[in-house]
Order: sequence, then C-alpha cells, then structure tokens
Amino acid sequence: MPEREIRQIIYLHQREGGARHFLREPRQRADKMPRQRGLARAEIAPQRHQIARPQHPPQTRGQRGKFFFVFNDLRERWHFRDSYGKNWRHFKGNGMENTYQTDVLIIGAGPVGLFAVFECGMLKMKAHVVDNLDEIGGQCSALYPEKPIFDIPGYPEIMAGELIARLEEQAEPFRPVYHLGQQAEKMEKLADGTFRVTTSRGAVICAKAIILAAGAGAFGPNRPPLEGIEEYEGKSVFYMVKRRRDFEGKKIVIAGGGDSAVDWALSLADIAEKIYVVHRRDKFRAAPDSAARLQKLAAESGKVEMVIPYQLHGLEGADGQLSAVIVADLDGAERRLETDILLPFFGLTPQLGPFSDWGLEIAHFHIPVDQATCETAVKGIFAVGDVATYPHKLKLILTGFAEAAQAAHAIHPLVFPGQELHFVYSTSKGLP
Ligand SMILES: Cc1cc2nc3c(=O)[nH]c(=O)nc-3n(C[C@H](O)[C@H](O)[C@H](O)COP(=O)(O)OP(=O)(O)OC[C@H]3O[C@@H](n4cnc5c(N)ncnc54)[C@H](O)[C@@H]3O)c2cc1C
Repeated sequence: MPEREIRQIIYLHQREGGARHFLREPRQRADKMPRQRGLARAEIAPQRHQIARPQHPPQTRGQRGKFFFVFNDLRERWHFRDSYGKNWRHFKGNGMENTYQTDVLIIGAGPVGLFAVFECGMLKMKAHVVDNLDEIGGQCSALYPEKPIFDIPGYPEIMAGELIARLEEQAEPFRPVYHLGQQAEKMEKLADGTFRVTTSRGAVICAKAIILAAGAGAFGPNRPPLEGIEEYEGKSVFYMVKRRRDFEGKKIVIAGGGDSAVDWALSLADIAEKIYVVHRRDKFRAAPDSAARLQKLAAESGKVEMVIPYQLHGLEGADGQLSAVIVADLDGAERRLETDILLPFFGLTPQLGPFSDWGLEIAHFHIPVDQATCETAVKGIFAVGDVATYPHKLKLILTGFAEAAQAAHAIHPLVFPGQELHFVYSTSKGLP
C-alpha cells in the first residue's frame, strides 16, 4: 500500500522523525536552487532546466574560465552558460553528443556520488555522473533539503541542501559531467575489461570503472493500485506537476495527505475549476499551517472540496482521458467525482532497478562489497554509500565519504595500469 511505502522511505534512514519532503523558506544559494515556496523539490525539479550541468568545454583560449559547457543527451544541441549560471545559449552539436568516454562513471549524484567525483579527481581520474533525478543531491535534495544535519565532520550544523551545494563546489574543479533526469539502465562489460553503460535517455557512457553511489536506488512515484491506471498516465494522471498552467480551468482530483497533496491543492486552487482533495483520514501529514490553510479554503470557497475519509477506488474514461474518479469510504460506499485530472501524491519510493541485471550480487536491496576496496562481485564495479553493504555497515553520509576515498584508490590501477600510486595528503598535493 502507498502509505506503507512512504513510511519505508522515511524510516529507511533511522531515527529522523519524518522526512520533510517540502520546502520552507528558501535559504542559501537561491540562485542555484530556484524553488517555489511550499512545493516539493522533487516536483519542482522538472520545471527547471532539464539539462545536465557538466563542464568539458572545447574552449578557445579566450573562453577559458569564462564558459561552462553542458551536455544534453536528449536534444541535438549544445548549451553553454556563463559561470554564474545565467544566459543559457544554444547551438548545434556535431551529432556525437550521445557517446562519452571517461575514466570513472559514477551512478548516483547523492552526497556520496558527489564526493566520489572529488576523490577521483584528486587522483587525476575524470568522472561522469548519472542520476535519475533532475537535480543533484540524492536524498538530501529530494527528501530533506531544509533539515539540519549535525554529524558532518567540521560542520556543527548544516542544512542538507547547503551540504549538497558545498559538495558540488568541491567537485567543480574536476569538471564532472552530469547526466541528470536519466537512469543508468544497461551495462555491458567489454572484452578489454571496460564498461559501456546506456541511460534511459540513450546516452552511452564508456568508462574504465563504475562507482555505484545509488543510495536506496532510483526514486520513482508510488502508484495507487488502480486497474488500468497506466492507460491514463502522462495524459490525465500525473505524479508530479511540471507546468502549473496545464491545469488551468480543469477539474482535478488530488489524492494524498502529505505536503505535496496539500501544497498543490493550495497552489492550483487559483487556476483550477474545481479541486477534490481525497484523503483517507481527517488528519494530514502536511505542515500544520498549510493543512489549516487548505481546510479554511475548503470551508470558504466552493472551489476546493475535501473528500474525507475516502480512498481512490477506480477510474472512468477513454483513450487516456479521465472522465471520473471513483472513491470509496472505509465501509465501501462509493462516490463518483467528475474530473479531468488525477494527481496521486503518495510519495516517492526507491527502486534498485536495473542493477539486478548487471550480474551483481544483491542482498536485501543492497550490494555487498569488499570493505577494504568497496569492489563488488564484478571486477571494476564498486559500490559506495547507502547502496553498499558489509558487516556492521553504518548508513551515514560520513561513512559513504570514506568509502568514496577507498573506492577511488582501488580504481586508480584500473585507470592508470602500471603506474604506482603514492599516497599524498591533499595539503601537500593541493588542487589542480
Ligand atoms: C529524513 C532523513 C534524514 C537523514 N539525516 C541524516 C543525518 O543526519 N546524517 C547522515 O549521515 N545521514 C542522514 N540521512 C541519510 C543520508 O541522507 C543518506 O545516508 C545519504 O543520502 C546516502 O547518500 P548516497 O549518495 O549513498 O545515496 P542517495 O542520497 O540516496 O543518492 C542516490 C542517488 O542515486 C540515484 N540513482 C539510483 N539508482 C540510479 C540509477 N540506476 N540511475 C541513475 N540514478 C540512480 C538516485 O536517484 C539518487 O539521487 C538521512 C536520511 C533521511 C531520509
């Protein structure tokens, strides 16, 4: 059931008393993290540039240091922007944008994947990073950007979103190439021991080693168990709001009791013809002030109707277009809500996904590694962070950071065979 799955995410990582999927006051780096107040980051992300933000510019001398190039695997264009992230421009690519060569492919742009970029960079290894989400940061960005973390060494307290911004900055000198909004799907091990990975958007990345920093897996929406829902998905059933104006003048059923449901009901109330909020109990898990605002709006305007305590029960419509949503109360009594759109907001759930076909050993949704090197059962594939497991593993960001360093050192001989690696402190080595 969706409710149970939502809890899985929240309790996945011990003791935090309930992940805030939602944004409060914008804080630091507002320029880099544009957000709409009150809306879930995971939902906002697709409204931003769908583009990766990597930097491997074939720069001229005059451009050096001035522009960053970014790859977009979907479109046949290159994009570049100035170093402050403004002034996006486009120009035609050469048709080869979809194939990349790199030393290390990192799957997952959570905190540990980002730190792995740094650790690889310190050993002169270039990295590409793939993430299913439209922005970097993994759980920190998607689940609790505004929560303070207290156990990051050197930071008595740091917001999860701010930590990601710092990690991105720390990785920046090594010019990682980010392929966001796409899942690493297919992996082939080539005869020379290197790898070719294909993403869900058709990018092909060839690498000498792979680091899996996939956390709890790629996040996907929790689907309500309604017969035939697939037919409507993307046409009149949506798990996230990409463009608010698409819902103008529509009759909308919003299902769920968390922040997404409440915040989108408040937001869309301005432009929709009618909003039904379907929830199975009268208590909302959303921020209390938002839930109170919604109750008040429902009491004062005929536009928002609370359909409580009801659950989704069935769909009516044809050719992907809904005409009604059937809801049922706890005794099974049904109600028919005439609607154009259904927005089920039952949270995101992690799925280990394609890794089960990669020949890896998988134990209870985790990948066992050799603790000394973080290498998996497949030579050349390493796992770090939450996805990696070994006896007495502590699923903490700081544990993942140490694993990233171990994996990078273990990968060095694969990238530079025959070259001896002398251990040098960063204080002696400095940055490139
Ligand atoms: C509410 C909450 C509070 C927490 N508080 C703390 C705390 O105080 N201290 C602490 O140390 N830890 C805390 N944690 C745990 C911490 O967030 C995790 O340990 C950390 O995020 C793990 O980082 P990661 O990089 O390994 O994975 P994640 O952050 O999970 O990132 C993995 C990324 O990989 C991507 N991915 C997975 N599979 C694929 C694929 N096939 N293709 C493309 N992309 C893929 C996912 O989309 C995701 O973005 C907390 C967690 C939660 C939920």
